[in-house]
Amino acid sequence: MSKSQNGWNAGPKTEIRIVSPKVPGTNVDFPQGVLAGDVETVLMYVAAEFHRTVEPLKDGECWGYFYKNIEGSSELSNHASGTAIDLNAPAHPMGRANTFSAAKVAAIRKILAFCEGVVRWGGDYSGRKDDMHFEINKGASEVARIARKIRALSAPKPPSTPKPPAQPAKLVVDGKLGPATIRRWQQVMGTPVDGKISDPSELVRAVQRLLRSKGHQIDVDGRGIRQDGRYYLTTYALQGYLGTERDGRMSAPVSELVKAIQRRLNTNKF
Ligand SMILES: [Zn+2]
Repeated sequence: MSKSQNGWNAGPKTEIRIVSPKVPGTNVDFPQGVLAGDVETVLMYVAAEFHRTVEPLKDGECWGYFYKNIEGSSELSNHASGTAIDLNAPAHPMGRANTFSAAKVAAIRKILAFCEGVVRWGGDYSGRKDDMHFEINKGASEVARIARKIRALSAPKPPSTPKPPAQPAKLVVDGKLGPATIRRWQQVMGTPVDGKISDPSELVRAVQRLLRSKGHQIDVDGRGIRQDGRYYLTTYALQGYLGTERDGRMSAPVSELVKAIQRRLNTNKF
């Protein structure tokens, strides 16, 4: 697959998963969209903080995915991988420097600092400036780390007392994918903990990313782990990962795969 300038997979919308989110806390859409998952989390954080601390975003003036080369180059733009956004584009056009006041630049610097180098601003380009432009500048694991940091901002703060026990109680190995098992799985994977597998699910995405890192060719779409006896590619990959019988199905009400998951979680890793 071809890559955009920052090394992310680029292609038409049939080949990469582009979503069109609303910027959290605004009425502003990104109709062209961004790459789903952690990139979406990070870029929508940048957009939301830009709106809150730099200047209000204008609906219809914010751009995202676009399959094209960098202007004046044969290299694919980071817009072609859904890993770049343009904010209030008409007011901050490519090629014009210093379109933001010093106070606004300072606010932009705070957003960039929070992202720890994972996001690069076009206003920092050494050549032609591109003030409207923000892009992912690191690989998947660094982006995932910042996405977790962002999700933790909205997670409820744990009470300071009483202290949670150092070792969680062992899960019962009963082969049932219930709330206690899901909650522990979410804790171990570092996703939001609610004891439910939503559709799509951050937990499933995290498991899919892990499986992909082990060479299983599956989509990171947050779907495909369900104790309903149906065939899912993600379940098939998970069975390969845990070494249980590979039929792609999580049988109900008792599943050997779920037992293997519970045994693994009782080691406090996955
Ligand atoms: Zn751009």
